[in-house]
Amino acid sequence: MVAGVLMTEPLALDGSVLIVGGGLAALRCAQGLRDQGFVGDLTIVGDEEHLPYDRPPLSKQVATGKWSIDKTNLVDADRRAALQVTFVLGKKAIHLNPLHREVTLDDGSVLVADRIVIATGATPRRLETGEGVVAHYVRTYEDGLQLAQALSGAPKRVVVIGAGFIGAEVASSARSLGHDVTVLETLSVPLSPVLGEELGSLCAAMHERNGTKLSTGVSISSIDATGEGVATVVLGDGTSHLADVLVIGIGVVPNTDWLLQSGLELDNGVVVDEALFATDSIMAIGDVARFAWTRLGETMMTRIEHWQVAADHGQFAATALLKGRASAEGIHLLPYFWSDQYGLKLQMLGRPEPTDEVTIALQDDEGRLLALFRRGEALSAVFGISKPKQVMAYRQLLLDGCLFPDALKVLNP
Ligand code: FAD
Ligand code: NAP
Repeated sequence: MVAGVLMTEPLALDGSVLIVGGGLAALRCAQGLRDQGFVGDLTIVGDEEHLPYDRPPLSKQVATGKWSIDKTNLVDADRRAALQVTFVLGKKAIHLNPLHREVTLDDGSVLVADRIVIATGATPRRLETGEGVVAHYVRTYEDGLQLAQALSGAPKRVVVIGAGFIGAEVASSARSLGHDVTVLETLSVPLSPVLGEELGSLCAAMHERNGTKLSTGVSISSIDATGEGVATVVLGDGTSHLADVLVIGIGVVPNTDWLLQSGLELDNGVVVDEALFATDSIMAIGDVARFAWTRLGETMMTRIEHWQVAADHGQFAATALLKGRASAEGIHLLPYFWSDQYGLKLQMLGRPEPTDEVTIALQDDEGRLLALFRRGEALSAVFGISKPKQVMAYRQLLLDGCLFPDALKVLNP
């Protein structure tokens, strides 16, 4: 770090960057820096023992045994050599001093860099269970291996708590292996906060159509071990469900515990501006970042827990660091997620609000559909079930801004 250089100025190409968190966002940031000519010191600290790996297959191809866990690795030897990153693995960051740009690790060592990028992701929310209950959460490499092991072999009673993304994908994976699957969900309509009631109901129907039993509007009263490898889940209305395999997917909390004494603003994530800066020298990206996002003329603070956003954040952060905070523009982001359930591909471009109007523009008997979301006069989001070409036809239109009547014309030119 050159004395007298303002932190809002561009990061020197031979400076130093420390990225905390060894997931997708961290890796994309490191790659972005190297791609843009950064030749300085680049360090990634991760509390897992593994080089960055991909989480989406854990609830899909890994859970069903179609993929060995090694296939999730995002960094092979060649890529690692090209990146020239110092990976500090199996070490947890426990403190950040933003003023001195110092990060303390749980082995007592202290790392200093010109710029620090926080990419610590999120951790599953836990449910209290009685002694001896084995509950599967799905976030890590080890979780994926254990779930695959639990789902292998003869048909079992699988109880899944939560019908969000993890719950729906695990239910689908377990059904594809012939298990008897029950999903328990607190909401009356699964995924309704993301998709709205009408489309959420279609997702609920997808479970039923594929032989998964879905109970909505439930509360969990207790989860206790009631025999060798069996858990009993008792609901608020007194009904109970026996589980040979119990999976819990009830959301995540951002990993900000290590930042409690840092003085950074923490509020459901690390609060950052529209260019993902928390301070002039510290950025936050991916699942952990609560960022200012402007869309259709409105700016909102949001945290988005999806793969493409983590990847885009990482790439964007690399560019923003090299420009410096003073010159960095706000992120022009189009949120995107996909989810694979029962042989169908769900995809969403954009981020609808609960008050957006939904029009189902295409639908067939096999459950495939295309839905358009309208906010005022504008197209706000597009959702598809196994309509990938039709969904992607809207990508540029959503990025540029598109009037709703023009969006309809795409389907009937
Ligand atoms: P993470 O991937 O969580 O990485 C953060 C890393 O930082 C972790 O390794 C964590 O252990 C580490 N860390 C945390 N605290 C510290 C600390 N104090 N010190 C050091 N290291 C720390 N999205 C989709 O769009 N489509 C999908 O189909 C999809 N499927 C998914 C399936 C599963 C099972 C899961 C769990 C997620 C899925 N996602 C999907 C979401 C997507 O994987 C995440 O949005 C993405 O992984 C976020 O990346 P990230 O780098 O921000 O955080
Ligand atoms: P999620 O998508 O937030 O869904 C959690 C669901 O569980 C919500 O419907 C929630 O309802 C419900 N719930 C909460 N408490 C409950 C309780 N006590 N009993 C029963 N249900 C309860 O979170 P997730 O499915 O756990 O996924 C974890 C993370 O992985 C998320 O970041 C997710 O985006 C990511 N992921 C993404 C994908 C994908 O994009 N395809 C796939 C897998 C995982 P309330 O809303 O009422 O709390």
